[in-house]
Amino acid sequence: MSQKDYYEILGVSRNATKDELKSAYRKLALQYHPDRNKSPEAEDKFKEISEAYAVLSDDEKKKTYDQYGRAGIGDRYAPEDIFRGVNFEEIFRDLGFGDSGFGIFEQFFGRRGWEGRTPQRGYDLQYDFEIGLEEAARGLEREITIPRVDDCRTCGGSGAKPGTSPKTCPLCRGSGQIRRRQSTGPGFFTVMQITTCDKCGGKGQIIETPCTECKGTGNVRRNRRLKVRIPRGVDDGSTLRLRGEGDSGPGGVPPGDLYVTIHVRPHPIFERKGEDLLCEIPISFAQATLGSRILVPSLDEQIELKIPPGTQSGTHFKIKGKGMPRMDAPGRGDEYVRANVKVPTRLIRKQRDLLIEFEKEGEEMDQ
Ligand SMILES: [Zn+2]
Ligand SMILES: [Zn+2]
Repeated sequence: MSQKDYYEILGVSRNATKDELKSAYRKLALQYHPDRNKSPEAEDKFKEISEAYAVLSDDEKKKTYDQYGRAGIGDRYAPEDIFRGVNFEEIFRDLGFGDSGFGIFEQFFGRRGWEGRTPQRGYDLQYDFEIGLEEAARGLEREITIPRVDDCRTCGGSGAKPGTSPKTCPLCRGSGQIRRRQSTGPGFFTVMQITTCDKCGGKGQIIETPCTECKGTGNVRRNRRLKVRIPRGVDDGSTLRLRGEGDSGPGGVPPGDLYVTIHVRPHPIFERKGEDLLCEIPISFAQATLGSRILVPSLDEQIELKIPPGTQSGTHFKIKGKGMPRMDAPGRGDEYVRANVKVPTRLIRKQRDLLIEFEKEGEEMDQ
Protein backbone atom coordinates (compact mmCIF):
# COMPACT_ATOMS: atom_id res chain seq x y z
CA MET A 1 0.00 0.00 0.00
CA SER A 2 1.32 3.46 -0.80
CA GLN A 3 2.28 5.79 2.01
CA LYS A 4 1.09 8.94 0.32
CA ASP A 5 -0.22 11.81 2.37
CA TYR A 6 -3.98 11.60 2.97
CA TYR A 7 -4.54 15.26 2.07
CA GLU A 8 -2.62 14.75 -1.14
CA ILE A 9 -4.67 11.65 -1.94
CA LEU A 10 -7.89 13.65 -1.69
CA GLY A 11 -6.30 16.72 -3.30
CA VAL A 12 -7.30 19.07 -0.50
CA SER A 13 -5.42 21.51 1.70
CA ARG A 14 -4.55 20.66 5.30
CA ASN A 15 -7.24 22.99 6.61
CA ALA A 16 -10.04 21.76 4.35
CA THR A 17 -13.48 21.85 5.95
CA LYS A 18 -15.64 18.76 6.38
CA ASP A 19 -17.74 19.81 3.39
CA GLU A 20 -14.65 20.25 1.23
CA LEU A 21 -13.39 16.82 2.27
CA LYS A 22 -16.70 15.22 1.49
CA SER A 23 -17.04 16.82 -1.92
CA ALA A 24 -13.42 15.89 -2.77
CA TYR A 25 -14.14 12.29 -1.77
CA ARG A 26 -17.40 12.18 -3.71
CA LYS A 27 -15.66 13.40 -6.86
CA LEU A 28 -12.96 10.73 -6.57
CA ALA A 29 -15.43 8.00 -5.61
CA LEU A 30 -17.40 8.77 -8.79
CA GLN A 31 -14.21 8.14 -10.73
CA TYR A 32 -12.94 5.03 -8.95
CA HIS A 33 -15.98 3.26 -7.53
CA PRO A 34 -15.85 -0.39 -8.68
CA ASP A 35 -19.32 -0.08 -10.23
CA ARG A 36 -17.94 2.41 -12.67
CA ASN A 37 -14.26 1.67 -12.98
CA LYS A 38 -13.33 -1.96 -13.60
CA SER A 39 -9.58 -1.55 -13.90
CA PRO A 40 -7.56 -3.32 -11.19
CA GLU A 41 -5.70 -0.12 -10.28
CA ALA A 42 -9.01 1.58 -9.62
CA GLU A 43 -9.71 -0.83 -6.81
CA ASP A 44 -6.52 0.16 -4.97
CA LYS A 45 -7.18 3.79 -5.67
CA PHE A 46 -10.74 3.46 -4.40
CA LYS A 47 -9.52 1.88 -1.18
CA GLU A 48 -6.89 4.56 -0.79
CA ILE A 49 -9.28 7.50 -1.17
CA SER A 50 -11.80 5.85 1.15
CA GLU A 51 -9.16 5.33 3.82
CA ALA A 52 -7.99 8.95 3.50
CA TYR A 53 -11.57 10.17 3.77
CA ALA A 54 -12.40 7.90 6.71
CA VAL A 55 -9.45 9.30 8.67
CA LEU A 56 -9.72 12.98 7.77
CA SER A 57 -13.48 13.19 8.29
CA ASP A 58 -13.20 11.90 11.85
CA ASP A 59 -11.98 14.47 14.39
CA GLU A 60 -10.06 12.03 16.58
CA LYS A 61 -8.46 10.16 13.71
CA LYS A 62 -7.59 13.40 11.94
CA LYS A 63 -5.90 14.68 15.08
CA THR A 64 -3.88 11.48 15.39
CA TYR A 65 -2.92 11.67 11.72
CA ASP A 66 -1.93 15.34 11.85
CA GLN A 67 0.31 14.63 14.82
CA TYR A 68 1.77 11.21 14.08
CA GLY A 69 1.04 10.50 10.42
CA ARG A 70 0.05 7.11 9.06
CA ALA A 71 2.24 5.35 11.58
CA GLY A 72 0.08 6.86 14.34
CA ILE A 73 -3.11 5.70 12.65
CA GLY A 74 -1.66 2.22 12.20
CA ASP A 75 -0.66 2.09 15.86
CA ARG A 76 -3.94 3.24 17.23
CA TYR A 77 -6.55 1.70 14.98
CA ALA A 78 -7.03 -1.81 13.72
CA PRO A 79 -7.43 -1.72 9.92
CA GLU A 80 -11.15 -2.37 10.15
CA ASP A 81 -11.60 0.39 12.74
CA ILE A 82 -10.19 2.98 10.39
CA PHE A 83 -13.37 2.75 8.33
CA ARG A 84 -15.74 2.75 11.23
CA GLY A 85 -17.82 5.82 11.75
CA VAL A 86 -18.25 6.91 8.13
CA ASN A 87 -21.55 6.31 6.47
CA PHE A 88 -20.12 5.18 3.13
CA GLU A 89 -23.39 3.47 2.33
CA GLU A 90 -25.19 6.79 2.26
CA ILE A 91 -22.51 8.42 0.11
CA PHE A 92 -22.49 5.58 -2.43
CA ARG A 93 -26.25 5.45 -2.58
CA ASP A 94 -26.34 9.19 -3.03
CA LEU A 95 -23.93 8.87 -5.96
CA GLY A 96 -26.19 6.23 -7.48
CA PHE A 97 -23.99 3.21 -6.79
CA GLY A 98 -24.97 -0.15 -5.39
CA ASP A 99 -23.39 -2.08 -2.59
CA SER A 100 -20.33 -3.42 -4.42
CA GLY A 101 -18.11 -0.76 -2.87
CA PHE A 102 -18.49 -2.58 0.40
CA GLY A 103 -17.31 -5.82 -1.12
CA ILE A 104 -13.90 -4.34 -1.58
CA PHE A 105 -13.63 -3.24 2.01
CA GLU A 106 -14.81 -6.63 3.17
CA GLN A 107 -12.13 -8.36 1.11
CA PHE A 108 -9.53 -6.13 2.63
CA PHE A 109 -10.57 -6.15 6.19
CA GLY A 110 -13.00 -8.97 6.73
CA ARG A 111 -16.53 -8.65 7.94
CA ARG A 112 -15.75 -6.75 11.08
CA GLY A 113 -15.06 -3.72 8.91
CA TRP A 114 -18.73 -3.33 8.45
CA GLU A 115 -19.60 -3.02 12.04
CA GLY A 116 -19.73 0.62 11.03
CA ARG A 117 -23.18 -0.10 9.65
CA THR A 118 -24.44 -2.12 12.57
CA PRO A 119 -22.02 -1.57 15.44
CA GLN A 120 -21.92 -4.11 18.22
CA ARG A 121 -21.14 -1.32 20.65
CA GLY A 122 -20.75 2.45 20.68
CA TYR A 123 -17.52 4.14 19.68
CA ASP A 124 -14.61 4.62 22.03
CA LEU A 125 -13.67 8.19 22.84
CA GLN A 126 -10.31 9.72 23.57
CA TYR A 127 -9.65 12.60 25.95
CA ASP A 128 -6.31 14.26 26.64
CA PHE A 129 -5.54 15.73 29.99
CA GLU A 130 -2.59 17.92 30.96
CA ILE A 131 -1.39 18.15 34.56
CA GLY A 132 1.64 19.45 36.45
CA LEU A 133 4.28 17.30 38.12
CA GLU A 134 3.04 18.22 41.61
CA GLU A 135 -0.47 17.13 40.64
CA ALA A 136 0.93 13.89 39.23
CA ALA A 137 2.67 13.30 42.57
CA ARG A 138 -0.44 13.93 44.67
CA GLY A 139 -3.01 12.43 42.35
CA LEU A 140 -6.20 14.33 41.72
CA GLU A 141 -9.84 14.16 40.92
CA ARG A 142 -11.18 16.44 38.24
CA GLU A 143 -14.52 16.95 36.59
CA ILE A 144 -14.35 16.91 32.82
CA THR A 145 -16.97 17.60 30.18
CA ILE A 146 -17.11 15.17 27.31
CA PRO A 147 -19.31 15.73 24.29
CA ARG A 148 -20.57 12.28 23.52
CA VAL A 149 -23.40 10.37 21.95
CA ASP A 150 -25.87 9.47 24.66
CA ASP A 151 -29.11 7.54 24.83
CA CYS A 152 -32.09 9.72 23.92
CA ARG A 153 -34.06 10.44 27.09
CA THR A 154 -37.36 10.89 25.27
CA CYS A 155 -37.50 7.35 23.90
CA GLY A 156 -35.04 5.71 26.28
CA GLY A 157 -32.72 4.90 23.37
CA SER A 158 -35.14 2.74 21.41
CA GLY A 159 -35.65 5.34 18.67
CA ALA A 160 -39.39 4.68 18.65
CA LYS A 161 -41.85 7.43 19.58
CA PRO A 162 -42.91 7.02 23.22
CA GLY A 163 -45.99 4.76 23.32
CA THR A 164 -44.86 2.82 20.25
CA SER A 165 -42.14 0.19 19.97
CA PRO A 166 -39.77 -1.01 17.24
CA LYS A 167 -41.03 -3.98 15.17
CA THR A 168 -39.02 -6.99 14.09
CA CYS A 169 -37.91 -6.57 10.47
CA PRO A 170 -40.11 -8.83 8.30
CA LEU A 171 -37.44 -9.21 5.59
CA CYS A 172 -34.55 -10.58 7.67
CA ARG A 173 -36.74 -11.70 10.60
CA GLY A 174 -34.61 -9.75 13.01
CA SER A 175 -31.18 -11.12 12.05
CA GLY A 176 -30.14 -8.00 10.15
CA GLN A 177 -28.58 -10.14 7.41
CA ILE A 178 -29.75 -11.62 4.16
CA ARG A 179 -28.20 -14.64 2.45
CA ARG A 180 -28.11 -14.56 -1.30
CA ARG A 181 -26.85 -17.09 -3.77
CA GLN A 182 -24.86 -15.46 -6.49
CA SER A 183 -23.53 -17.05 -9.60
CA THR A 184 -20.29 -15.56 -10.85
CA GLY A 185 -21.29 -16.40 -14.44
CA PRO A 186 -22.61 -19.24 -16.59
CA GLY A 187 -20.70 -22.40 -15.79
CA PHE A 188 -18.90 -20.79 -12.88
CA PHE A 189 -19.33 -21.64 -9.27
CA THR A 190 -22.01 -20.16 -7.09
CA VAL A 191 -21.11 -18.26 -3.98
CA MET A 192 -23.23 -17.63 -0.97
CA GLN A 193 -23.22 -13.97 -0.20
CA ILE A 194 -24.28 -12.56 3.11
CA THR A 195 -25.37 -8.97 2.93
CA THR A 196 -26.84 -6.52 5.34
CA CYS A 197 -30.61 -6.34 5.21
CA ASP A 198 -31.65 -3.37 3.08
CA LYS A 199 -34.96 -2.90 4.77
CA CYS A 200 -33.70 -2.41 8.32
CA GLY A 201 -30.09 -1.46 7.55
CA GLY A 202 -28.88 -4.45 9.58
CA LYS A 203 -30.60 -3.47 12.80
CA GLY A 204 -33.12 -6.31 12.64
CA GLN A 205 -35.82 -3.91 13.73
CA ILE A 206 -37.93 -1.32 12.03
CA ILE A 207 -39.17 1.82 13.64
CA GLU A 208 -42.52 2.78 12.19
CA THR A 209 -43.04 5.94 14.21
CA PRO A 210 -39.66 7.49 14.96
CA CYS A 211 -39.04 9.50 18.10
CA THR A 212 -39.05 13.17 17.13
CA GLU A 213 -36.25 14.07 19.54
CA CYS A 214 -33.58 11.72 18.08
CA LYS A 215 -35.25 11.11 14.69
CA GLY A 216 -35.35 7.40 15.32
CA THR A 217 -31.64 6.87 15.99
CA GLY A 218 -32.09 6.46 19.75
CA ASN A 219 -29.06 8.67 20.30
CA VAL A 220 -28.49 12.36 20.86
CA ARG A 221 -25.28 14.37 21.24
CA ARG A 222 -24.92 15.72 24.70
CA ASN A 223 -22.21 17.03 27.00
CA ARG A 224 -21.55 14.65 29.81
CA ARG A 225 -19.78 15.72 32.97
CA LEU A 226 -17.89 13.08 34.83
CA LYS A 227 -15.30 12.83 37.52
CA VAL A 228 -11.93 11.40 36.59
CA ARG A 229 -9.69 10.10 39.33
CA ILE A 230 -6.02 10.31 38.47
CA PRO A 231 -3.90 8.11 40.73
CA ARG A 232 -0.87 9.52 42.54
CA GLY A 233 2.41 8.82 40.81
CA VAL A 234 0.84 8.79 37.33
CA ASP A 235 3.40 9.02 34.54
CA ASP A 236 3.35 11.04 31.34
CA GLY A 237 1.50 9.17 28.60
CA SER A 238 -0.48 6.90 30.95
CA THR A 239 -3.95 6.10 29.72
CA LEU A 240 -6.93 5.44 31.96
CA ARG A 241 -9.81 3.44 30.57
CA LEU A 242 -13.28 4.33 31.75
CA ARG A 243 -15.56 1.50 30.77
CA GLY A 244 -18.90 2.41 29.26
CA GLU A 245 -18.17 6.17 29.17
CA GLY A 246 -17.73 6.28 25.39
CA ASP A 247 -20.47 6.88 22.84
CA SER A 248 -23.77 5.08 23.16
CA GLY A 249 -24.47 2.73 20.28
CA PRO A 250 -27.65 2.64 18.22
CA GLY A 251 -30.55 0.50 19.31
CA GLY A 252 -29.38 -0.11 22.84
CA VAL A 253 -26.03 -1.87 22.11
CA PRO A 254 -23.49 -1.32 24.93
CA PRO A 255 -21.61 1.98 24.94
CA GLY A 256 -17.92 2.26 24.03
CA ASP A 257 -15.16 3.19 26.46
CA LEU A 258 -13.51 6.50 27.23
CA TYR A 259 -9.71 6.62 27.17
CA VAL A 260 -8.14 9.44 29.15
CA THR A 261 -4.48 10.05 28.34
CA ILE A 262 -2.45 11.97 30.91
CA HIS A 263 0.23 14.40 29.78
CA VAL A 264 2.55 15.64 32.52
CA ARG A 265 3.98 19.08 31.78
CA PRO A 266 7.77 19.45 31.98
CA HIS A 267 8.79 20.89 35.35
CA PRO A 268 11.09 23.94 35.61
CA ILE A 269 13.26 22.28 38.31
CA PHE A 270 12.75 18.54 38.32
CA GLU A 271 13.34 15.98 35.66
CA ARG A 272 11.58 12.70 36.20
CA LYS A 273 13.29 9.35 35.65
CA GLY A 274 10.74 6.69 36.48
CA GLU A 275 10.06 7.08 40.20
CA ASP A 276 13.13 9.26 40.82
CA LEU A 277 13.49 13.01 40.45
CA LEU A 278 16.62 14.78 39.29
CA CYS A 279 17.58 18.38 39.83
CA GLU A 280 20.66 20.51 39.54
CA ILE A 281 21.78 22.94 42.23
CA PRO A 282 24.44 25.62 41.75
CA ILE A 283 27.00 25.86 44.56
CA SER A 284 29.84 28.30 44.86
CA PHE A 285 33.50 27.43 44.51
CA ALA A 286 33.99 28.18 48.23
CA GLN A 287 30.96 26.07 49.31
CA ALA A 288 32.29 23.17 47.24
CA THR A 289 35.80 23.50 48.58
CA LEU A 290 35.08 24.22 52.22
CA GLY A 291 31.82 22.27 52.51
CA SER A 292 28.53 23.83 53.57
CA ARG A 293 24.84 23.29 54.24
CA ILE A 294 22.45 24.40 51.53
CA LEU A 295 18.67 24.31 51.04
CA VAL A 296 17.49 22.28 48.06
CA PRO A 297 13.95 22.07 46.67
CA SER A 298 11.87 18.92 46.85
CA LEU A 299 8.25 18.29 45.86
CA ASP A 300 7.12 18.92 49.44
CA GLU A 301 9.44 21.47 51.03
CA GLN A 302 13.01 22.77 51.09
CA ILE A 303 15.46 20.24 52.46
CA GLU A 304 18.82 20.94 54.08
CA LEU A 305 21.61 19.17 52.27
CA LYS A 306 25.15 18.77 53.60
CA ILE A 307 27.83 19.48 51.00
CA PRO A 308 31.07 17.85 52.20
CA PRO A 309 34.38 19.71 51.76
CA GLY A 310 36.03 19.00 48.41
CA THR A 311 32.83 18.36 46.48
CA GLN A 312 33.45 18.15 42.74
CA SER A 313 31.10 19.58 40.12
CA GLY A 314 28.75 16.89 38.87
CA THR A 315 28.61 15.00 42.19
CA HIS A 316 25.17 13.52 42.87
CA PHE A 317 23.56 13.56 46.30
CA LYS A 318 20.70 11.22 47.01
CA ILE A 319 17.79 12.31 49.17
CA LYS A 320 15.92 9.17 50.06
CA GLY A 321 12.16 8.97 49.66
CA LYS A 322 11.72 12.40 48.06
CA GLY A 323 11.02 11.21 44.53
CA MET A 324 7.66 10.42 42.93
CA PRO A 325 5.14 8.21 44.72
CA ARG A 326 4.89 4.75 43.25
CA MET A 327 1.63 4.20 41.41
CA ASP A 328 0.88 0.64 42.43
CA ALA A 329 2.99 0.23 45.56
CA PRO A 330 3.56 2.16 48.76
CA GLY A 331 6.56 4.44 49.13
CA ARG A 332 8.32 6.89 46.91
CA GLY A 333 11.40 7.04 44.71
CA ASP A 334 14.41 9.18 45.55
CA GLU A 335 15.55 12.65 44.64
CA TYR A 336 19.00 13.12 43.15
CA VAL A 337 20.66 16.50 43.44
CA ARG A 338 23.53 17.24 41.11
CA ALA A 339 25.99 19.82 42.40
CA ASN A 340 27.01 22.31 39.76
CA VAL A 341 30.08 24.23 40.97
CA LYS A 342 30.01 27.76 39.66
CA VAL A 343 33.35 29.27 38.72
CA PRO A 344 33.26 33.00 39.46
CA THR A 345 33.44 35.13 36.33
CA ARG A 346 34.01 38.52 37.98
CA LEU A 347 36.31 39.13 40.92
CA ILE A 348 37.06 42.21 42.95
CA ARG A 349 40.74 42.99 43.40
CA LYS A 350 40.95 41.52 46.89
CA GLN A 351 39.43 38.22 45.78
CA ARG A 352 41.84 38.10 42.89
CA ASP A 353 44.84 38.68 45.18
CA LEU A 354 43.59 35.99 47.57
CA LEU A 355 43.22 33.52 44.73
CA ILE A 356 46.72 34.24 43.46
CA GLU A 357 47.97 33.70 47.01
CA PHE A 358 45.90 30.50 47.20
CA GLU A 359 47.38 29.21 43.95
CA LYS A 360 50.95 29.92 45.16
CA GLU A 361 50.33 28.07 48.40
CA GLY A 362 49.01 25.16 46.37
CA GLU A 363 52.18 25.03 44.25
CA GLU A 364 54.31 24.95 47.35
CA MET A 365 52.19 22.14 48.81
CA ASP A 366 52.61 20.09 45.64
CA GLN A 367 56.42 20.23 45.87
ZN1 LIG B 1 -35.50 9.34 20.93
ZN1 LIG C 1 -34.03 -6.54 8.19
